[in-house]
Amino acid sequence: MARLIGAKCKLCRAYGEKLFLKGQRCNNDAKCSVTKRSFPPGQHGKRRRKMSNYGTQLKEKQKAKRIYGILERQFNKYFKIAERSKGVTGHVLLQMLERRLDNIIFRLCFAYSRPQARQLVRHNYIYVNNKKVNIPSAMLKKGDVIEVRANEGTTKRISDLRKELKERPIPKWIEGDKAALKGTLKGLPAKEDLDFSIQEQLIVELYSK
Ligand code: SF4
Repeated sequence: MARLIGAKCKLCRAYGEKLFLKGQRCNNDAKCSVTKRSFPPGQHGKRRRKMSNYGTQLKEKQKAKRIYGILERQFNKYFKIAERSKGVTGHVLLQMLERRLDNIIFRLCFAYSRPQARQLVRHNYIYVNNKKVNIPSAMLKKGDVIEVRANEGTTKRISDLRKELKERPIPKWIEGDKAALKGTLKGLPAKEDLDFSIQEQLIVELYSK
C-alpha cells in the first residue's frame, strides 16, 4: 500500500498553512514549523513568486492529496467518480475524501492524525458493522458503525489518546462515543461542516483543462 513519505513539516511550509500531518506536535505552536518559519522551505524559500492560474490550481490539488495522505492515481479515481455522481463535483469529491475509513477514525478522535488512524486500521484494530476492516481507503456510508477494539497493546495508547483529545470536538455529521470508542456515520458533511481551506473549485478547473 502506497503512502506519502518524507518530511511532513516541509509540506505545510510549502503550502503556507497547517495541514496537521504530525498529530500532537501540530497543536503546539511553539513546535510547529509553520508558526516558527512562515515561509516556504529551501534556499529560495523567502523569495516572492508569482503563481500562474495553473500553478494555483495544481497547488490546491496537491494540498488535498497531502491532507488526506493519498497518491495521484487514487485521487484521479476519486475525481472521476465525483464527476459522474449527482451533485456539485467539487463537493462530492471532498465528501468522498471525508468518508474514507482512516479519516473517519481521525474525525472520531481515536487518533492524533490521519497517518496514525491509518496505522490503527492496518493493524486490525478497526471494526465496521462488527466486521474487521483493514483497508484505510474503505468508503463508509450513512449508518455504518465504527469501533476500535483495543487489545492489551493498544489500551495504554488509547487511554493516553483520550486524555489528550478530550478537548477536540467530533463533527456533527458523525455520532461518536469516545468512552466506548465507537461511532456512527450520521450523514455526509455539508460544505460548511468542513474545517479546512481547500478550494475545491480550483481542483475541478484543473481537471477540466
Ligand atoms: Fe504541519 Fe506544524 Fe504539524 Fe509540522 S507540526 S506537520 S508544520 S501542522
